[in-house]
Amino acid sequence: MWRARGKSDKIQLSFKYRIYPTREEKLLRVMQVEAKVYNALLDAVNNARKEGRRMTPKDTQDMLKDLKIEGKELVYSKALQMVNNQLWYNINSLHELKKRGRRVGKLRYKKIMKIINYNQSGFKVVGDKLILSKIGEMKVLFHRPLEGEVKGVIIKKSATGWYAIFQVEVEKKPLEKTGKVVGIDLGVEKLVTTTDGAVVENPRVFDEVEKRIKILQQLLSRKKKGSRNYEKVREKLAKMHEHVKNLMNDHIHKVTSWLVEQYDEICVEDLDVKEMVEDSESKVLRKHILHTNFSKFVSYLSYKAERAGRRVVKVDPRNTSKTCAKCGHVKKDLTLADRVFVCPKCGWVADRDYNASLNILRAGSGLPLEPVDRKPLLYIPFSEGVYSKFPGRSRKSSSRGGDAPSVTVDPKSYYEK
Ligand SMILES: [Zn+2]
Repeated sequence: MWRARGKSDKIQLSFKYRIYPTREEKLLRVMQVEAKVYNALLDAVNNARKEGRRMTPKDTQDMLKDLKIEGKELVYSKALQMVNNQLWYNINSLHELKKRGRRVGKLRYKKIMKIINYNQSGFKVVGDKLILSKIGEMKVLFHRPLEGEVKGVIIKKSATGWYAIFQVEVEKKPLEKTGKVVGIDLGVEKLVTTTDGAVVENPRVFDEVEKRIKILQQLLSRKKKGSRNYEKVREKLAKMHEHVKNLMNDHIHKVTSWLVEQYDEICVEDLDVKEMVEDSESKVLRKHILHTNFSKFVSYLSYKAERAGRRVVKVDPRNTSKTCAKCGHVKKDLTLADRVFVCPKCGWVADRDYNASLNILRAGSGLPLEPVDRKPLLYIPFSEGVYSKFPGRSRKSSSRGGDAPSVTVDPKSYYEK
């Protein structure tokens, strides 16, 4: 849904905040009406297809005005148009999947739409209140300041409550050049290992949370679906996922802001190509969470860099772990269990991820093979990253480099299932 599209001097971001609507039922009603509209348009498209006619987004959009749906007057007109957009987005996505040879079913009818989309107009922010046309005002918890020019607002209900996602356009804020370039390795054992020897740890809290989640899931499977107890456990589970997600988001925000402040150029593996095979099979959940976070990490890093006038260079991830950073020898038999890289050819010994980071830097910056130094690794524990000041971050610069935005990267990410 969202991408940081850079215009020349502006960049688009999303800020997500919790909201406290006093009349939830009003929002729910709008979402139900939206679903009816969605279903009616879907029907029209399906019927046309049966008769061999083709419909376009414009055709269904034109239908909106005369559509007889009870409660339609409760929905802001632009929000209705966005329902039409959503329908066509879904139709096209399905079509794409089919084209790629995937077996797909039909689009389903909806009981309720999960979002209300105010695009371009119909919203106003006054103090800590959001005022929506046809709905009224609601309190917003601005835990981070909202920046930029608001282009749209999406109201969303999740398992843990209501949220407003503000789509804004902000000015780029170039940072002063530091003259420094870095390579970073993203990993499951350690979140980040840099060529300067900094290691940012992944949260160990996952191990504990994973145990609790498993227990809750077992508990849930024994409860009767739809019963009060079932809902209680389900809510607990959702809150736990949300908690982990928030912790990790904060962590990633701090680490990526820090990197962007420190370096003119950051070399990182191209995740689209990277095979995510690290880590043992038993820790499936942890693996899933972390891999979702890799793409989030690169996404945050990219928009912050773009905003700050920095560069993120994506490199081919093949053999970054298996290549000796000193002599270039490729050690084919390096296994995932080998945490230390020992080169059989030149004798270079280094931490596996540090060795990889050097190769990533080299691939990204085109530096020659030698010289390489072995820097002592500086471990930055997760707790330090999240709960206290991050090393190397000056207080003054904390508002720069886009630390604030919470970005919705992939609406279909793990937690929102
Ligand atoms: Zn070597």
